[in-house]
Amino acid sequence: MAAGYIVTVKEIIPITHNVKTFKVTKPEGFSFVPGQATDLSLNKEGWKENKHPFTFTCLPGDDFLEFTIKLYDNPKGLTNHLKSIQVGEEFEISDAWGAIEYMGEGVFIAGGAGVTPFISIFRNLHQQQKTGNNMLIFSNKTEADIILKDEFEKMLGKNFINVITRQPDTQYYSRHIDWEYLKNIISDINQKFYVCGPDEFTKNILDTLQTLGANAEALVFEK
Ligand SMILES: Cc1cc2nc3c(=O)[nH]c(=O)nc-3n(C[C@H](O)[C@H](O)[C@H](O)COP(=O)(O)OP(=O)(O)OC[C@H]3O[C@@H](n4cnc5c(N)ncnc54)[C@H](O)[C@@H]3O)c2cc1C
Repeated sequence: MAAGYIVTVKEIIPITHNVKTFKVTKPEGFSFVPGQATDLSLNKEGWKENKHPFTFTCLPGDDFLEFTIKLYDNPKGLTNHLKSIQVGEEFEISDAWGAIEYMGEGVFIAGGAGVTPFISIFRNLHQQQKTGNNMLIFSNKTEADIILKDEFEKMLGKNFINVITRQPDTQYYSRHIDWEYLKNIISDINQKFYVCGPDEFTKNILDTLQTLGANAEALVFEK
């Protein structure tokens, strides 16, 4: 059976209207690679078996762990319950797992809360002054949904590109990410592409990238 670790919530930080960051204690010797996730549940009667995957958004060297979580409204859902938890409550987490990790310079394409694996990857690259030519294309319904906008702007400058799909008066590019958009924005199809978002989003982007000539081995996503 996979190891379970009990961690205590130390800080809860509002990020957008429906996203919060939870900082928790770090078990001794716990390690993860930026981009990886864990199975998380509440260490509370009735909630222990309700495990869902969430991505570490801190740095491997931090002395705490951190999750950045979109909170949904389903009364029976874990994330709805996370809206009301307090500092001092406990989570149980598994060892880190996942296929997304940094494999070299490329284009990162995220939909909504799918950006979370890229938070740790970019924080890590930024800390090492290695953001280089990496680019993040971030799709959200409205500008109010953009997670950590200021931090991404600071880390990536002009290589942070927002796409907004359901706010006609947006200051950003207003449409879905499709073949035409990617064809115009990608200067080199022979590079890495990192894709994360809702299943349908991820599938459409991966299909489009391959239609444009991207090599299947250069696509990094959660399988
Ligand atoms: C590897 C991995 C890592 C993840 N990391 C994160 C993370 O760091 N932060 C984060 O916020 N989420 C992350 N997710 C998604 C997260 O696991 C789900 O949002 C969570 O399981 C929802 O639990 P719930 O019980 O609140 O959902 P429910 O209450 O069952 O669902 C609430 C509502 O939201 C919808 N919904 C749920 N999940 C999604 C989704 N992914 N996309 C679109 N609609 C959805 C449901 O259809 C439902 O209508 C990750 C998923 C995977 C597979």
